[in-house]
Amino acid sequence: MKVLMIYPQTPDTFWSFKNAVRFVSKKASSIPLGLITVAGLLPADWNIRLIDLNITNLKDKDILWADFVFLSGMNIHLESFQKIVRRCNELNVKVVAGGSMATMEHEHILGVDHFILNEAEITLPQFLEDLKQGNPQPIYQTTEFPDIAKAPLPRWDLLDQQKYVSMDLQYSRGCPFNCEFCSITTLNGHKPRTKSRTQFLAELDSVYASGWRGSVFIVDDNFIGNRKKLKQEILPAMIDWAEEHNYPFNYGTETSINICDDSELIDLMVAAGFEHIFIGIETPNHTSLTECGKYQNVGRDIIASVKQLHQKGLRVSGGFIIGFDNDPEDIFEAQINLIQKSGVVTAMVGLLNAPTGSRLYDRLKNENRLLNFFNGNNVDGSINFVPKMNYKLLMNGYVSLLRFIYAQPNYYRRVITFLKEYQLPLKNKVSVTIHDIGALFKSIWKLGVLEHGRHYYWRLFFYTLFRFPRKFPTAITMAIYGYHFRKVVRTI
Ligand code: SF4
Repeated sequence: MKVLMIYPQTPDTFWSFKNAVRFVSKKASSIPLGLITVAGLLPADWNIRLIDLNITNLKDKDILWADFVFLSGMNIHLESFQKIVRRCNELNVKVVAGGSMATMEHEHILGVDHFILNEAEITLPQFLEDLKQGNPQPIYQTTEFPDIAKAPLPRWDLLDQQKYVSMDLQYSRGCPFNCEFCSITTLNGHKPRTKSRTQFLAELDSVYASGWRGSVFIVDDNFIGNRKKLKQEILPAMIDWAEEHNYPFNYGTETSINICDDSELIDLMVAAGFEHIFIGIETPNHTSLTECGKYQNVGRDIIASVKQLHQKGLRVSGGFIIGFDNDPEDIFEAQINLIQKSGVVTAMVGLLNAPTGSRLYDRLKNENRLLNFFNGNNVDGSINFVPKMNYKLLMNGYVSLLRFIYAQPNYYRRVITFLKEYQLPLKNKVSVTIHDIGALFKSIWKLGVLEHGRHYYWRLFFYTLFRFPRKFPTAITMAIYGYHFRKVVRTI
């Protein structure tokens, strides 16, 4: 059996980092982890190829080579996903689709022969069995959540690793919280399901054996969903592993803000090599936090929390949301104030949207306020429901907010606020690769010579070089991110 796995093209959004990855001569920031994990579940004698449209082009002869095309993706990939399906239909090659978008939106997607929905550890073996019997069905679904100890090792050999900025791993699925706008818990449940220590170390070994060194992102819904196991088993094992292997990886992941309640957890994460975490901060307005059920954020001093994490050595990226029913008209200034004062450089500010499967989707449907389904891009100015705030006020305020926080003086000021607080852990090796040196020269050319407002770049350049030389690579990385964000903001 010949299977062609295709990962759709990610549009140019804040999350794609497309304008930033070029600085390090890479093509994409992250890998199609779902597809290469599913590849590990397929029979060993099947012939599998992978084409990631963020890395390379798809030719008709690639599709015609295959008996089946396997497709995955998130809502953000819908347009590219549909184009691939149409091409396969024209060439008469059968399409098998799975992943989060297919699971939530399959009723709206035409042209797919077999949907393998929910988690593939359960539904894919059923499809394979029916295929063997010559009777594969159009849809495979389940309401069960599998034990992820059954997840296979990802097939790293299918990737052209050098084209990516980071490798991805998954340690757990599910999140104990219940934010109204989030569909994660419908997809993966409230009970965090974790891999065993042995299994996770085997994954680290496999990435290491593949030759990868550098950035590894742990793509969990909420890495700290089971703190006890992390502190007692996983992080101590990761620390030992890192020491044995001379710290080959630096990690990023996603956590909830209650990480700030647990200094021991933060210290262990830093010791294991974590450098960066994404946190859903959402809003400074506590009534809006209560509205969306984000109780873990209510009543917190967010600025102090972010500074605490920066001082401990974890760089915080933050998700921020505008458009809650309870947002007052001055929410835009309040968000700007929070973002600038906290020093969250990578501030992803999106409009509230209601993904299928979220509690918000159900509520808005009952209130007759839903417009269409969520396109997965909450930072392009689209909104899939009728907001309470006047639409023009909301949109104008949103666009002004983005322009403000990514305007060079404000952005660079935020980078300096961050650098002043940020304590780069002493243990961290500041390793510099050939790509990093290339990125430095490209940044000098693009940001320091060609770009209007170049003096902000040079101010940061020399300020960091003389005041915080160990943090110089971080400062240049942040400058490059800023270039990407400014380019995206111009398109909104
Ligand atoms: S904490 Fe994050 S993953 Fe968990 S329910 Fe809230 S938004 Fe979703």
